[in-house]
Amino acid sequence: MTAFDHLPPLRESLAAHGLMANKGFGQHFLLDLNITRKIVKLADLSPDLTVIEVGPGPGGLTRALLETGARVIAVEKDERFRPLLNDLADAANGRLTLIFDDALKVDEKRLLNGVPAAVVSNLPYNVGTALLIKWLTGPFRPESLTLMFQREVVDRIVAGANDEAYGRLAVLAAATASARRVMDVPAQAFTPPPNVTSAVVRLVPTDAPLPTDLLDALQRVTAAAFGQRRKMLRSSLKAIGGESLCQAAGLSADRRAETIDLSGFLRLARALSDKT
Ligand code: SAM
Repeated sequence: MTAFDHLPPLRESLAAHGLMANKGFGQHFLLDLNITRKIVKLADLSPDLTVIEVGPGPGGLTRALLETGARVIAVEKDERFRPLLNDLADAANGRLTLIFDDALKVDEKRLLNGVPAAVVSNLPYNVGTALLIKWLTGPFRPESLTLMFQREVVDRIVAGANDEAYGRLAVLAAATASARRVMDVPAQAFTPPPNVTSAVVRLVPTDAPLPTDLLDALQRVTAAAFGQRRKMLRSSLKAIGGESLCQAAGLSADRRAETIDLSGFLRLARALSDKT
């Protein structure tokens, strides 16, 4: 028995408020509480954490988060969900704060004011990667991020050197966090079902974040190297130092981006940052 059992099932709440998924907002809903509870379990939240959830939509994941006793700050761009989410906020007795805004614009650090936080979200596919990059590189330092993406995006986050999915996102994720795929979710679990399988990844940011200048240099090096991933570094990195940069990083300029692991990219970034 939970404080939310008196609320109607999510499907009924949607129907009662006349709500349909809007593809423009990347809306694919999880209406089965068994699945949202499983995601929350995998998030492994310690009790003192406030949870930031992007895109509560009808509130299935939000309900599962609130059931654990957590405080939740939910950021939703689609105003149509306001009345439905207000019902959930009433049942949550002050533990659910709703913000109707674009999550890309929200300043989480200011919002939290020093309170430790984690992110748990079934992300809108159209802005999921941009949000992840914001969280991995920005001033907000969550203790963990448990995020649902298309499976192909999770492949790109957890890939290692020489894997097919290895690229800028994998290097950035490895430089800033440890990442583990924790669950695959079939398309039929969503309403409406997307065209792809989804997966949940859990990331734990590193204790010591990289200095901003090194992170900037890493972004420049990986953009250049993977911008022409089939070319040798001497040519893909030409505009930012080519052979001399590789030499300073102790790497052969004959190598290609996809064979360089995180430590190689960090050496390239250091060499670039020292040069500029
Ligand atoms: N959490 C719900 C669930 O699991 O059923 C909905 C997930 S749905 C994949 C993504 C949600 O993100 C939608 O509610 C959508 O309106 C919202 N959304 C889309 N773009 C957004 C943005 N830029 N900022 C905040 N919310 C956004």
